[in-house]
Amino acid sequence: MQALKDGFYPPGGYRFTETDGTPFEASDVTSLVNKVWGYRRRAGLDATAAQRDVHAQLCTRSPGICQEVGELKRPEPDKVLQGRVAVRAASLLDGRMSKAYRFVDRPEADARARICKGCKFCVDWNSGDSCPPCKKNILEILTVAVKPEALHEGMLGKACRLGGEDLSAEVWTKEHKLLEEAPNTCWRKPQP
Ligand code: SF4
Repeated sequence: MQALKDGFYPPGGYRFTETDGTPFEASDVTSLVNKVWGYRRRAGLDATAAQRDVHAQLCTRSPGICQEVGELKRPEPDKVLQGRVAVRAASLLDGRMSKAYRFVDRPEADARARICKGCKFCVDWNSGDSCPPCKKNILEILTVAVKPEALHEGMLGKACRLGGEDLSAEVWTKEHKLLEEAPNTCWRKPQP
């Protein structure tokens, strides 16, 4: 079967169109597979072929950046989440430097943390044993990025699996991604 080569960016981006016409777009192939997988699960469809179908469609569009593989490697969920947390940390730091990001007050951050605490998408991102120096570096970046506030102690080491951000920093942010797929109680759910 065909699979996208590591490190290659498909012309036109990471996009997939479901057989019912539903379009998906993501910032990387793993996120794209996760979106399609989640959609199929919710729609009662067979989600097991999501990874194969996404690669097949990308490769039909751009055969030059694909290769034949015996089986598709399963991404390691911990590393994927850690990578997403790192990307957001860098963006928060950029925002701090350019003053593009602002923060909410303590009561608001506490209220958000309480909601996240009870949410099934609130998961540990730095408890595994992959790359301790990387994790330390991410935490240092986040600490600088949210100053003068401190990382929210109730959310230390927690990430939102849907959004892919460290929550001890994210609960302070005024500018953040909205999450269509989040539970209705989520503070990042778009308002109707
Ligand atoms: S989905 Fe919303 S409530 Fe749940 S962990 Fe993510 S940000 Fe928090």
